[in-house]
Amino acid sequence: MSEHTGVLVHCEVADGKLASIAAELLGAGSRLAAELGQELSAVVIGSDIGGAAKEAIACGAGKVYAVDDAALKDYATEPYLAVMEKVIGQAQPSIILLGQTAAGRDLAPWLAFRLDTGATMDCMALEIDTATKRLLMTRPVYGGNAQAVQSCETDPQIASVRVKAMTPPERDDSRQGEVIDIAAEVDTASFKTKVLERKIEATTGIKLEDARVVVAGGRGIGSADGFKQLEELAGLLHGAVGATRPPCDAKFISDTRQIGITGKIVSPDLYLAVALSGASQHVSGFFSSKVIVAINKDPDANIFKVAHYGIVADWKAALPAFTARLKEVAG
Ligand SMILES: Cc1cc2nc3c(=O)[nH]c(=O)nc-3n(C[C@H](O)[C@H](O)[C@H](O)COP(=O)(O)OP(=O)(O)OC[C@H]3O[C@@H](n4cnc5c(N)ncnc54)[C@H](O)[C@@H]3O)c2cc1C
Repeated sequence: MSEHTGVLVHCEVADGKLASIAAELLGAGSRLAAELGQELSAVVIGSDIGGAAKEAIACGAGKVYAVDDAALKDYATEPYLAVMEKVIGQAQPSIILLGQTAAGRDLAPWLAFRLDTGATMDCMALEIDTATKRLLMTRPVYGGNAQAVQSCETDPQIASVRVKAMTPPERDDSRQGEVIDIAAEVDTASFKTKVLERKIEATTGIKLEDARVVVAGGRGIGSADGFKQLEELAGLLHGAVGATRPPCDAKFISDTRQIGITGKIVSPDLYLAVALSGASQHVSGFFSSKVIVAINKDPDANIFKVAHYGIVADWKAALPAFTARLKEVAG
């Protein structure tokens, strides 16, 4: 019988606050811990993280391992890995959840190797197998064309979870929990890498990853001017504009807007796919969107296999009419 028990969530911190992915993971972790009848705990690593540790309790963690050290201000593999190993050694969790973020993508496989277990990356759904009480982890495979359900026979079971795949819990600031301070004891001189400079991506309006509506354009948009029409529509819907790779390569739009396997992953309430074919490398970046609407002049385009609603039309006719109608409705 394994001595591992409970769910441990790696909570990332952004600007001194709990990152939105951390709240989403705590939401999922609470559900899993409740199903197992075990405890949910969190690990918060960084500099000046007292507020974030309290937020983790408000989001459901019964226990928070807080590792507060100026040397941990920026994510770096070696110190974070060392600190995570220390916390895991103390907490002995059965399940560890991390975000499918730059840090989580790096940490999860390292941890799996060090702890002699497995890591399942980019999970979109997590369930407990009622018979075995093991974690069932659903992840996209074959560039998003299929989904695989995996389980891990060894503890701890490690999963990195896609941003926006889980629902954050109702925050309750009156919740009580225990904060356990862990000394980082990291030797900065031994770090093989150090952060020299941090460049924040300049964005105006809603961030693509946070947008509840994404209007995405493909090669068929044909020009930077075409994308301005998409921007107008996205503005009316309080959303953001995304793109496939070809218009980014053609500089019709910034490559920070690319969605897909080598771009950003989004999961909005509405994904409006305009003049794009639905290549698997693109689809894997948005297929967990709640409602997908496609406009394409080719009735056989692959995007119609993915979309909930489809309009077979030239976007140059369909989109302005839709935008005009929306303006009328909006007032
Ligand atoms: C390793 C690798 C990684 C990749 N990563 C990504 C990635 O992250 N993201 C990504 O997007 N791609 C990625 N790609 C590229 C991907 O394979 C496709 O080539 C790309 O997604 C196609 O973009 P598209 O749908 O805009 O263009 P196309 O496939 O050329 O489709 C254009 C569509 O527009 C329609 N159309 C044209 N004119 C109009 C009109 N006037 N009105 C209505 N419809 C019209 C056409 O019918 C067609 O369906 C990657 C490729 C590789 C090999």
